[in-house]
Amino acid sequence: MTYILALDQGTTSSRAILFNESGEFIQSFQKEFDQIFPQPGWVEHDPMAIWNSQLSVAKELLDGHKAANKHQGNDIAAIAITNQRETTVLWDRTTGLPLANAIVWQDRRTTDYCESLRQTGHQALIQTKTGLIPDSYFSATKLRWLLNNIPGARARAERGELAFGTIDSWLVWNLTAGQVHATDPSNASRTMLYNIHSQDWDESLLELFDIPRAVLPKIVPSSGILGTTDSKLLGISIPIASVIGDQQAATFGQACFKPGMAKITFGTGCFMLLNTGSTPVPSVNRLLTTIGWQYPASGTHYCLEGSVFMGGATIQWLRDGLGIIQSAAEVEALARSVKDVEDTYLVPAFTGIGAPIWDGHARGTIVGMSRGTTRAHIARAALEGIALQVAGVLDAMVRDSSIDLTEIRVDGGASKNDLLMQMQADFIGIPVIRPHVTETTALGAAYLAGLATGVWRDAEQITSQWTIDRKFEPTMSSDARASKLKRWSQAVERAREWAMD
Ligand code: ADP
Repeated sequence: MTYILALDQGTTSSRAILFNESGEFIQSFQKEFDQIFPQPGWVEHDPMAIWNSQLSVAKELLDGHKAANKHQGNDIAAIAITNQRETTVLWDRTTGLPLANAIVWQDRRTTDYCESLRQTGHQALIQTKTGLIPDSYFSATKLRWLLNNIPGARARAERGELAFGTIDSWLVWNLTAGQVHATDPSNASRTMLYNIHSQDWDESLLELFDIPRAVLPKIVPSSGILGTTDSKLLGISIPIASVIGDQQAATFGQACFKPGMAKITFGTGCFMLLNTGSTPVPSVNRLLTTIGWQYPASGTHYCLEGSVFMGGATIQWLRDGLGIIQSAAEVEALARSVKDVEDTYLVPAFTGIGAPIWDGHARGTIVGMSRGTTRAHIARAALEGIALQVAGVLDAMVRDSSIDLTEIRVDGGASKNDLLMQMQADFIGIPVIRPHVTETTALGAAYLAGLATGVWRDAEQITSQWTIDRKFEPTMSSDARASKLKRWSQAVERAREWAMD
């Protein structure tokens, strides 16, 4: 039996997951690390804490595997890397030490600068080249901030002494003991420095953001051996055979290989990606056009991406903010204890509303309550609120791409909730399919690594291994769906009216 060791470096924890050659989950280890909030709106990670936590879970998993099988781990064909995207690290090429904490994707410190980019008319250029909407979310303005604010950094960067990378690059650098400084197109396409058409760093964007080319990693395919791990780290030297951003990895792990296939990850937020094939589809509904993956046998695949900020986080709010449930899993039974929401709507616009509406001033709202409203109605309305937001983004995706979705695949913590999945199918009018393996992020990276090392032959073989746990068929009539969506959009208008003067 051959195995793939996937490293899934997330926003709150680092994980190591072992898959066998049938794509079956064998074992995983996980370690959390600190979130650093130096001031309101700022979010940082210690890059060494990221690396140490990632290395320690990989070691723990590998040591257990070696002991259980009484060998040296030579049956591990490859390491696969998937990661939180956009988070920005700047380090010294000689010492390998970071110059500052990593600026995390959630960090808003460059919001004003991004606003000035929009006001000075750079939005169209950025959107055309990168597929992104200028926002502090992406790496470019974070890197610019580091170069401008760390004394001497810019001059050192220009002399080629410093390296920039998203978390994938940082892990590859450390795993290869500084031998390889690389990233893949799925991660590069989230930096706002990468031209998704020419598939290279873009000279005019580097100029706009004042980024010296010498800091940038080289770009390698998402699937392919890009180096081997330093043997001192894990006791053996293992090829690193894939690098891919987390949401794109989940799309690959869902075997969404063909244009028109899509997935939704129901985590803290909800992330929808639609494979649009070899063509980048520009969005008129303010979704993102991004690179899904690049692997030599099939070239570059593009995706349309849309997200909802408050997915599972809405359920966390029911638990921690309102205290009406003790655990997220309880929400389903509570919501099922009433047969419908009785015209109550919960719009979880706690931090504004994202795609396709984009109203940062909107605020969380509950409308339609009566004396008969109970916590069960609120719980049910919260679940509907998640599914209705997702329905709005999917509708925008369909309009952007002119692709008629026929089904959608789901994963993530909240996809365990059968009631939520049924609501989702009802509100979008197409079947929702949940696979057996919901570790799709790590699995997608593992598949790409296995394709590069001969563990899997091709996409067809992987497709045959991907199996369905449950399919949720829509049961709502189209009239009922239309009136539900209409009522929801009225509730969303109420949330938007709450903007401050
Ligand atoms: P992330 O990767 O963003 O940390 P996960 O995929 O681990 O997220 O999912 C965790 C989220 O799913 C939490 O926000 C939690 O509230 C939500 N969640 C977990 N179980 C359920 C459930 N049974 N019903 C609804 N939401 C759930």
